[in-house]
Amino acid sequence: MPTARRSRGNAAAWKPATPRRLRAIRDRLRAAYGRPVPRAHRAPVDELILTILSQNTNDRNRDVAYARLRERFASWDELRDAPVGEVEEAIRPGGLGPTKSVRIQEILRALEGDDLRWLEDAPLDEARRALCELPGVGRKTAACVLLFSYGRDDVPVDTHVYRVGSRLGLFRPGASFDEAHDELLRLTDPGDAYEIHVGLIRHGRRTCTSRAPRCRECPLLDLCPYGRAVTARS
Ligand code: SF4
Repeated sequence: MPTARRSRGNAAAWKPATPRRLRAIRDRLRAAYGRPVPRAHRAPVDELILTILSQNTNDRNRDVAYARLRERFASWDELRDAPVGEVEEAIRPGGLGPTKSVRIQEILRALEGDDLRWLEDAPLDEARRALCELPGVGRKTAACVLLFSYGRDDVPVDTHVYRVGSRLGLFRPGASFDEAHDELLRLTDPGDAYEIHVGLIRHGRRTCTSRAPRCRECPLLDLCPYGRAVTARS
């Protein structure tokens, strides 16, 4: 069957998951990998810059680029007003330096000195909307800032979370990343956002990998339509 027809068929058969189902997934992931402990650091601008640096690179290169920025510039204001070439040079180990340097300075200019600490107590929708209005900031970056800075209930959907969640049937087949964010938010109990995010990432890195998911060893196999179909065929 052509891919488009198959995907329409899957979408037609898909039924939204329930919070109870996500709770069951959470509990299995907790048993497999342990319960992650959130550590809200209350530094939203730092988190914003760090998340921009994380695009299209791994954690190690991101951290090197971030450390070099902090070493090179005494404050975010100084970074904002620096020649863009200096910023680009500082973050080069993180990749995409020309793009990220411009983006970071655009964001800092758009903030006009706002330290974003008001995000801690603002209504969640309002906080998310304000972040998404910044240049180049989308739902994932906004959710990272809200979750990691203040432990607020937003779940970043990166490629691991999207892939694992899609295979588990949490997202409508073909759903956009924004739709996946909305769906995961609907399913996640208050206070569970960090554990859901970290649990799905750990699972995506260790078991439900992109090219060769280890379905037969997976603690979620009986909850996973994709895994059940794969193991039934082989
Ligand atoms: S059963 Fe397979 S596809 Fe499903 S979550 Fe586990 S590893 Fe991923």
